[in-house]
Amino acid sequence: MTTNNIAVLKFGGTSMGTAETMNICADVISNKIKQKEKPFVVVSAVSKMTDTLIKLLELAKNNKKHDLNTVFQASKDRHFEILKNLTKNAELIEKYSKIINAKFAHLFEILNGIILTSDYSEKTQAYVLSYGEDLSSDLMELCLIENGIKGKKINSNKLVKTHGSYLSSDVDFIKTKRAFSKIAKEIENGTIFVMTGFFGGGIDNEIMLLGRGGSDFSGSIAGIALNAKIVEIWTDADGVMSADPRIIKEAKSWEEMNKDIASEMARAGAKVLHPKTISASFYKIDILIRNLFNRAFNGTLINSKLYGDGVKGVVSDDDYSILHLENQDMFGSAGFVAKIGIIAKENNISLDMTTTSETSISFTIKTKTLNKVALKAFNSIADFSIVEDVVKVSVIGENISNNQILEKLFTALKSSKIEPLMISMGHSNNNIGIIIKKNDKVKTIESLHKAFF
Ligand code: ASP
Ligand code: MG
Repeated sequence: MTTNNIAVLKFGGTSMGTAETMNICADVISNKIKQKEKPFVVVSAVSKMTDTLIKLLELAKNNKKHDLNTVFQASKDRHFEILKNLTKNAELIEKYSKIINAKFAHLFEILNGIILTSDYSEKTQAYVLSYGEDLSSDLMELCLIENGIKGKKINSNKLVKTHGSYLSSDVDFIKTKRAFSKIAKEIENGTIFVMTGFFGGGIDNEIMLLGRGGSDFSGSIAGIALNAKIVEIWTDADGVMSADPRIIKEAKSWEEMNKDIASEMARAGAKVLHPKTISASFYKIDILIRNLFNRAFNGTLINSKLYGDGVKGVVSDDDYSILHLENQDMFGSAGFVAKIGIIAKENNISLDMTTTSETSISFTIKTKTLNKVALKAFNSIADFSIVEDVVKVSVIGENISNNQILEKLFTALKSSKIEPLMISMGHSNNNIGIIIKKNDKVKTIESLHKAFF
């Protein structure tokens, strides 16, 4: 039950891309305040900054000082460019220049530390990557103040309490709620917090990331911890769509969508939101996906309602490989799949789609997780081959595992001469996956989208 009027507003990288887009965010926030809602803001890093920080880490690790200096300077300039365009107030410029300067100086020291010590631990990586959101939230605070809003930046490592791995940690919601309760009064009194997305903090507030794209999840975590009325994810697309609009021009936007279907879409590769974001709807908090650059569109509302049977999207996920393992001893024997599972676990490889015959098993994995040790181990238990450059296309919807849908699907594939390499349909009733060659991707999505919409 919601007892307050808190709206968590999460702004993504493109929304944080320039002073101009930040000012649009401020306008969204202002409107909420006018409507007597209490915004709690969560921000991503300035667009592409996380990628840049990863690049800087790589350059430091490989002792490429010259390139490191160039990339470092460019990202520093970019933040100062935004700062300069946010305000003309000399006092504010001085205050925020000092903050940004100090952070870049510190970051530079850490990167040089990596060059000197070759320390490239996950803890250090997480710390370096947190600079993106740490800097963007300072700029957003300035933007709000410049717009006459009582903005106050707050670091998420003190609020979002996590444990597990530094690069993709798990949230402890009991501790997190306790931490958030300490700022409830201030929110009540009208402070607009700007929280860094993407990371939480461990026992000593050490930075722990929530995984790539994790700022959406940060929004949901804040929503859950504050028992918010709504979590709004402000992005650069018209909500959840029936296909990627860059591939299908006619892709349609959904005004409402069931949480399980939305989460299936996100897991299957829809870029619009991080799969874990849906967790808020399990706490009965509505999630609204909005487009900052098309505010006329009301967005996609994600909640627990059922919206009727049928296909809701055709989604793709790139960069897979198929591993085929064949062994005549597999027939009727016990424990073969377990052997595969152990090799996968030991090599930190996540198995995706899996299909079997009596003497063979095929599964897909993300190509970048392939490594020589794992390949050798697989080879030691079975004859083995790889098909690289394959893509997973998923048809997602409510109650779609039926002949009617399958007939349409195969008719579409047949008429566009696409041969599926693997197919998966199972208990969930809301996902049919097919593996196809990378070169067939666009044609597959086009023909399936046309068949279902
Ligand atoms: N900046 C982080 C990333 O690019 C988190 C996010 O924006 O969601 O992965
Ligand atoms: Mg994102």
